[in-house]
Amino acid sequence: MRVAVLGAGYAGVTLTKKLERTLPEDVELVLVDDTGVHLVQHELHRLVRKPSLADVITIPLTDLVDRAEVRERRVTGVDREEHLVRFADGTTLSYDVAAVCLGAETAFYDLPGVEEHATPLKRLEHATRVREEFDAVRERDGHVVVGGAGLSGVQVAGELAQVAADDREAAAQAETAEQEEVRISLDEADAEPATDEAVDDEFDTEFEDFGEFDALPEEGVTVTLLEQFDSVAPNFPERFQRAVHDQLVERGVDVRTGATVERATADAVHLTDGTTIEYDQFIWTGGIRGPDAMAGDRPVVRSTLSLDRTTFVVGDAARMVDDDGEAAPASSQSAIRAARVAAENIDRMVDHLRDGEAGDFDPRLDRFDFDSPGWLVSVGDGAVAQVGPTVFTGRAALALKATVGGGYLSSVGAVRNAVDLVNRELGIDPGDE
Ligand SMILES: Cc1cc2nc3c(=O)[nH]c(=O)nc-3n(C[C@H](O)[C@H](O)[C@H](O)COP(=O)(O)OP(=O)(O)OC[C@H]3O[C@@H](n4cnc5c(N)ncnc54)[C@H](O)[C@@H]3O)c2cc1C
Repeated sequence: MRVAVLGAGYAGVTLTKKLERTLPEDVELVLVDDTGVHLVQHELHRLVRKPSLADVITIPLTDLVDRAEVRERRVTGVDREEHLVRFADGTTLSYDVAAVCLGAETAFYDLPGVEEHATPLKRLEHATRVREEFDAVRERDGHVVVGGAGLSGVQVAGELAQVAADDREAAAQAETAEQEEVRISLDEADAEPATDEAVDDEFDTEFEDFGEFDALPEEGVTVTLLEQFDSVAPNFPERFQRAVHDQLVERGVDVRTGATVERATADAVHLTDGTTIEYDQFIWTGGIRGPDAMAGDRPVVRSTLSLDRTTFVVGDAARMVDDDGEAAPASSQSAIRAARVAAENIDRMVDHLRDGEAGDFDPRLDRFDFDSPGWLVSVGDGAVAQVGPTVFTGRAALALKATVGGGYLSSVGAVRNAVDLVNRELGIDPGDE
């Protein structure tokens, strides 16, 4: 008998790790992923500012699993009738029970020009591309537009704005240092303390023709975040939304809510209200759709996480509805929690298929009840945390975010990565900042 787990994100890895402990020894467990690594996607935006973090947030699957067989293949289809997974290389894999954990793809909603001109942020290569484009934008004090203010949009906008704010501060410090040098040289020449006006005059004269100085940013990079709904992080509690909004504004992000993108050209985004916003870089985080292997659909799964008796769909690949009939937001938190329930149910189904007689009733399955303890996001060097009804920011929020991220990595056995992540998040090891 074989259980196939398709996709090794939060859902797939959590599920596999749990099944490794509980499935009978003679049941084969296969984990399929097209990258061969587990990406801690909720930290992907960090790579825009800290590229060396890539080593911390990607873990080879063979380091994570014990008895599961890892296959690095791209899934192109799941034939539920035939119990067959099809791969891009033409091979197939038969299964008795499958868990589809393929995550989501970026949705461009057929908005003219958006897919062509914008860079999404879902995979490692996207983060690299966003960073390279942003480096060019920094050279010319350009303007970045981020379309979509969900979890990924607010966090990438926060990272870019933090870089811009740091650049401005560095430029201001350089200017102060230059002025101080002029003051000292005037003091030495006149043997009298120089007035501020004299320093400014001398400074302007001295650097009038100094090209490099002229190139220092006056304003620096600017970042605009567009959201069609009335607030950022639209699927989250109101107090959390307000705190995220304030953190973004504090870092200089131009947040525009009620701003619906209609189309894009090579240098401008056009909104439905007729506004045109020129850009040097356009990042699209405006929505998700189902994986190609599921024809782009995110099927609705009930709280048992089962699509049919032997196919489970877990995480962003599905629209998961919990036991209270509430839709669980697409998030790492939902994926991990649902995967624990799905693992229990797969276990029961495997037992049933092994022992059961034809015509037996299916086993009673556990139900997923999504009761979130809270939410956490980073906004540049800051963070916003909501625990129960309380929302807080600053070091405490950052420490909690680092702890939760580290806790997750430890829970899947990546202890070294957990320690590194906490150290990097708390600035104990600054890496390449
Ligand atoms: C920048 C960013 C920041 C985020 N921040 C947060 C946050 O702060 N908090 C939060 O809760 N959530 C956050 N999220 C959302 C969260 O990352 C997702 O909801 C979560 O990753 C979903 O988990 P998953 O296991 O369903 O899918 P994924 O983690 O996307 O995993 C899917 C896996 O399937 C593999 N795969 C996909 N297609 C194929 C194929 N055809 N063949 C083989 N393998 C395939 C992929 O390589 C991947 O390993 C963020 C997302 C982004 C992009």
